[in-house]
Amino acid sequence: MKEVLKRAQEGQYAVGSFNFSTAEVLKAIVMAAKELNSPTIVSTSEGEGEFIGMAEAAALVGAWRHGTKLPIILNLDHGKSLESVKKAIEAGYDAIHFDGSAMSYDENIANTAAIVSYVKGIKEKFDREIIVEGELGYLRGSSSVHEEALEIKPEDLTSPEQAKDFVERTGVDSLAIVIGNAHGIFLKSEEGLNLERLAQIREALGEKVFLVLHGGSGIPEDDIKKAIELGIVKINVNTELRVAYQVGLVKELKEKPTETTPYKILAPSFDAVKSVVKEKIKLFGSEGKL
Ligand SMILES: [Zn+2]
Repeated sequence: MKEVLKRAQEGQYAVGSFNFSTAEVLKAIVMAAKELNSPTIVSTSEGEGEFIGMAEAAALVGAWRHGTKLPIILNLDHGKSLESVKKAIEAGYDAIHFDGSAMSYDENIANTAAIVSYVKGIKEKFDREIIVEGELGYLRGSSSVHEEALEIKPEDLTSPEQAKDFVERTGVDSLAIVIGNAHGIFLKSEEGLNLERLAQIREALGEKVFLVLHGGSGIPEDDIKKAIELGIVKINVNTELRVAYQVGLVKELKEKPTETTPYKILAPSFDAVKSVVKEKIKLFGSEGKL
């Protein structure tokens, strides 16, 4: 994982982190990465992991890694407690995102530092490389399509001074920042990024931390490209995959209401998810970066 992100940092591209909660969505992500020879991060939130099963997700990813020889990293997305972090690590996850952003600043630091120290213990005991991502700033929204307009307040954004202090006091490998991004797709507003703020954060942190952008769905392509130039190396995409899946499924069920074979019913969803992942891999610049 570190190697994959280090190479992205040096090569000025980003690796997509794509969420899944079913075997066919995981397969669609892997097939897209395989066709474009791209490293990939596949993620489950706590809810998604509970649905597919964390140990089962890890076993599936292991099988895909073996079958494709691709660097596929399994990541816990928005772990909210030490308990869920422990579960993911026991199941075999390679990367942990601990999200303490809803806590007070001091609580977020204390909890994130505790996770980093727990993971360090595991690394030493079992000789496993596990990367920890912290989160700072107020990330609005959820991974769905929002009818209401997005309103991001200046105080929601990650402060460069706090980011530096947070990284020093917690020892995280990566940091998810808020620079105008939000979870989900907002129909009534443009999700523009504050690139100046990103440059200031980069300046404050230097190259020792990997910068992560959540809410990759719905951000203008130009802003994504500029954010990558300014040092973003991991971009999370969930909502656009969910929408592609749902649209494909609804269309298929409407057109062939008597079809009962799951792999036929799910084929359009599979194709739609795969094509979104391919678009994102191209946009993020990780195509051919094995
Ligand atoms: Zn997120």
